[in-house]
Amino acid sequence: MEKIQNFINGELTPPRNGKYIDNYNPSTGEVYSLVPDSEEQDALDAIAAAKAAFPAWKKTTKEERATILRKLANLIRDNFEEFVIAESRDNGKPVKVSEHVDIPRSSKNLEYYADEILKFEGEKFSDEGMGENYLEYYPIGPVVSISPWNLPLYLFTWKIAPALAAGNTVVAKPSEVTPMTAYMFTKLCNEAGLPPGVLNVIHGLGHKVGDTLTTHKDIKAVSFTGSTATGKVIAKNAGAHMKKYSLEMGGKNPNIIFADCDFDEALSVTMRSSFANQGQICLCGSRIFIERSIYEKFKEAMLVKTKKLRQGDPLEASTQQGAVVSEPHMNKIISFFDIAKKEGGNILIGGKRADRPGYFIEPTIIENLDSSCRTNQEEIFGPVVTITPFDKEDEVVEWANSTEYGLSGSVWTKDLTKAKRVASAIDSGVVWVNTWLMRDLRTPFGGMKESGRGREGGTYALKFYSDVKNICINNN
Ligand code: NDP
Repeated sequence: MEKIQNFINGELTPPRNGKYIDNYNPSTGEVYSLVPDSEEQDALDAIAAAKAAFPAWKKTTKEERATILRKLANLIRDNFEEFVIAESRDNGKPVKVSEHVDIPRSSKNLEYYADEILKFEGEKFSDEGMGENYLEYYPIGPVVSISPWNLPLYLFTWKIAPALAAGNTVVAKPSEVTPMTAYMFTKLCNEAGLPPGVLNVIHGLGHKVGDTLTTHKDIKAVSFTGSTATGKVIAKNAGAHMKKYSLEMGGKNPNIIFADCDFDEALSVTMRSSFANQGQICLCGSRIFIERSIYEKFKEAMLVKTKKLRQGDPLEASTQQGAVVSEPHMNKIISFFDIAKKEGGNILIGGKRADRPGYFIEPTIIENLDSSCRTNQEEIFGPVVTITPFDKEDEVVEWANSTEYGLSGSVWTKDLTKAKRVASAIDSGVVWVNTWLMRDLRTPFGGMKESGRGREGGTYALKFYSDVKNICINNN
């Protein structure tokens, strides 16, 4: 059975305590590899390596760093099939999703920041009586990146790419339930020419290494994606130790469908925004609001399509619905079926574990729930959506904004004036009009309210991973 290793100072390194945690294949429920059960000393070793590597790495040119990032992107491409299969086996997601989303986007993240860093220059300001001002950006030092299990390599690279491009060294901690592709990635780093210590990866449990990583004096910034509860712990830790932090947390995103939408397009994209990756994408539209005049028709059409979703082995090319990531996560999702029933919800389809080994849940649609109930307020993060009819624009905007979250929203209508009005009124970091998950990497990504602090993406991430200095020359 494969033993995953930490990556410290350019070397694959076993945990100092010699202990490992079981890593399960979600589609069978069987253990198939072992993950280091790292502890504080492993985290300290990784931080020391990142600190030692920083002075030389920060002096490299942008071109040198860009070249290494491009090599890493190409090495992922050279091993594309292996990465695709590993991601699907580790996470339970259909191979089609790894093939079209996770792995290509991982290469793209690295390439995008290889390009972006070359264009990243300090702004200039000049006004009479205020001097010639120009800004210089500097790497800030060793940083920590903590990434979740839903898009493992995608979010791992989304964080490390701008951090490395901006000249920082990194200690990364992937989720212990999906460590495999980050481990495979570390095996390519030396070949790509990444100097030892520039990227270090610690595998293991968040609660065992998390405090060390997020409070250590040599760590200058922490970037995190995961639950709001953990995000709050990280904010407290990082804030108390004067570190920058960037948090991308949960969502309970509204998907608003007006009667004047393109019905077929809204339906087909809503199926994706509801059930893609088994609903385990922070941007999934888990609360669907449908204008009353098309409610029944839309609902029936959704039920027909949901019934036809092919659930099965994630490694089969035809599979549309795989397994959810872990047994505890499956149980959390299932617990919401009882909650929803007690709250008066009517489960139209699904609402139970699928009758097969592994962690499979039937795609679920629930109606007849009030906006304020737990099912409509808490992030379930599974293949579960609620549908609700609405009559008025004001009413649906109020419901859309009624949760603590504010990550994303979707609006479906052919009336662009109305679309823009509703998009402006929704409190979230991104609103899609007549689409979902369309991402230009130059745009800011993150959430309002309890969905996030700060923004990543584009130059937002490069600025997060940099310190800025204003130089002012008296030109009088
Ligand atoms: P967590 O927020 O617990 O985990 C996310 C990452 O943070 C993991 O790498 C985790 O490590 C790490 N972590 C946990 N505790 C600490 C700590 N004290 N200090 C530093 N790092 C820590 O998410 P879960 O995986 O437990 O999922 C729970 C819920 O979070 C989901 O049901 C979903 O609602 C939400 N979620 C949201 C995501 C998003 O994209 N916004 C992504 C994933 C989950 P470890 O895995 O070892 O605990």
